[in-house]
Amino acid sequence: MGTIAQSEPRIYPCPMYGEKDAQGRTCKQRFKRPEHSRRHVLTVHSTARPHACKVPHCGGAFSRRDNLRDHYFTHVEKGGREGKNHKISLEDLKEILGQKERKLVARLGVRLAKEKGRKGRARRARFVERGLA
Ligand SMILES: [Zn+2]
Ligand SMILES: [Zn+2]
Repeated sequence: MGTIAQSEPRIYPCPMYGEKDAQGRTCKQRFKRPEHSRRHVLTVHSTARPHACKVPHCGGAFSRRDNLRDHYFTHVEKGGREGKNHKISLEDLKEILGQKERKLVARLGVRLAKEKGRKGRARRARFVERGLA
């Protein structure tokens, strides 16, 4: 009786598979593609965080640039009492980041405008629900 060759797809376990990460969680990630494994290592296990937040006294740093962009958004004042991050206006952020990042600031501005619009609509919808409209 020979063993039947199974055509299992190759899997690429995380190099830290079964080990604890910096947060003390055991990694059980396996991937179908090596590049997914690599990206996972970068985002989850990497202590290299080259994208540092430039907002004074924040100290936030990220392994991926898009994470930093999302993080900057949490700094921007949205006219509520949300979040624990130090809040600054979009104008201040523009000044801090300078000319080099003006595209990023512009995109945050667009996102901010969208978010404000959505919140306004959601609030009105709630009033309608409670019969307060
Ligand atoms: Zn992992
Ligand atoms: Zn920050």
